[in-house]
Amino acid sequence: MRRTVIACLCTIALSAHGRAQTTGTAAGMLAHDSAAYTGHDANGIPHYATRTFTPEERALLRRVYGIEEPSRLYVSDSSAAGVLKYDTGRKRCSTCFVNSYRVGFVSIRRPNESWEELERRLARMSPSDFPPSSRIEDVSTAELDPAVRDDVQQMLADAARAGFVLRVRATYRSPEREAFLMRTRGGSTHTLTSLHSYGRAIDVVVGDGILRHARTRAHWVAFRRWITAYHHGAFRILGTPDQTWDWPHVEIPSARIGFRSIDAALERAAECGDRSADTACDFTPRVPVSSR
Ligand SMILES: [Zn+2]
Repeated sequence: MRRTVIACLCTIALSAHGRAQTTGTAAGMLAHDSAAYTGHDANGIPHYATRTFTPEERALLRRVYGIEEPSRLYVSDSSAAGVLKYDTGRKRCSTCFVNSYRVGFVSIRRPNESWEELERRLARMSPSDFPPSSRIEDVSTAELDPAVRDDVQQMLADAARAGFVLRVRATYRSPEREAFLMRTRGGSTHTLTSLHSYGRAIDVVVGDGILRHARTRAHWVAFRRWITAYHHGAFRILGTPDQTWDWPHVEIPSARIGFRSIDAALERAAECGDRSADTACDFTPRVPVSSR
């Protein structure tokens, strides 16, 4: 986040002296542009993009990122961890459920396949269509991104020292595993495009894991509050400490994974979209140890 703020200040300073550099000005415009489609309104409805897309931009977004309707793009939030997301249906009420996908994240989406098409393909698949490895949940930290593995282990040790009783339920998940879970567990937001597939997310259960137990719930909320403040906010939960659709999920976002604006996605697509394999534009995960 600090890096972003500094970049913005530089842009303003340069402009004030009338020596605005092309790149600095462009960065400032992009930041301004993305603010219009960042976050949610009071009812939890995303601020979907309202900008006009040229036919070329629409074609590029469809071909490279599987986006059928770019007016359902938005940036999840204004924090450094906010990324460009795509909803396959337009969310219209606070309790309405829609599937959201993080643009450019690795997944089982095929070249040229849209997210809507992928959802229909998944719905037709039976559990036996998935590779056997997709049934196995990895709970070790061995295949986490080496850049964060020590931080995760340290966090777990510090949490135990702080009195939390934790059980790691999931760590690295392949895109096939994510798809298997989406298919067999009825689907849940983020499942197909997850930081688990980058080795940068873990699922942690607190206490006996039964949320209807008041004591468990209180401890879980306390842990979620604790981890939000831990390590300068490097760890991120979904929702708020006491309100979420995914209690166990904890992730460590990376500035190099995900787009912060539509323009950034278009720029990358224009650079990489000419290659035959369109999904090459996706952010590449670290190759898990077991696949080497
Ligand atoms: Zn998770």
